Amino acid sequence: MGKGTLALRLVASDDRLWLSRSWTTRPRRANEDGSEYNFVERAAFEKAIDDDQFLEWAEFHGNLYGTPTPKAPDGSDVLLEIEVQGAEQVVNANPDAVVFLVLPPSMGHLEERLRGRGDSDDHVALRLSSTPHELAKGRELASYVVVNDDIDRATGEILSILEELRQLRRDPS
Ligand code: 5GP
Repeated sequence: MGKGTLALRLVASDDRLWLSRSWTTRPRRANEDGSEYNFVERAAFEKAIDDDQFLEWAEFHGNLYGTPTPKAPDGSDVLLEIEVQGAEQVVNANPDAVVFLVLPPSMGHLEERLRGRGDSDDHVALRLSSTPHELAKGRELASYVVVNDDIDRATGEILSILEELRQLRRDPS
């Protein structure tokens, strides 16, 4: 299970986390129910860019993805599940942002997961070929690196880091 599932687990386990719902121009996959993204046409996405409605956005393998300016309840911590170009924009705009780089246990696992969700051979090859560059950029940006070897373990690891960070925020000394 990938980053999307991990993000859902995190918000289900932590009342103070608020998960942003991204916009994308990519078509919905057969195994998606439509709740995963706001699926939009490219023209609508480009208009939202012009209207300055995104905290960050990026083109990833030919499709646009973006985080609308978050409208999270006061006191919540905003969770974004995004790729590295977007993370770089968020960190530049908010140097306090905490970046978790979530890694598959191996490239073989990643390939298996992409194939398992029905990605085409071409798309799998494209994703795998760009991964080394994304990992290098991700390691530069990351505050924490978490290996998604087991979804429950990875969820627990991130939740306990969040608790430590909140403790530090309350009591910085
Ligand atoms: P997928 O097409 O597999 O759902 O997502 C492709 C990549 O886009 C994933 O790495 C995902 O984390 C990333 N992504 C999803 N939403 C956003 C977003 O709002 N902004 C950016 N920059 N990346 C996103």
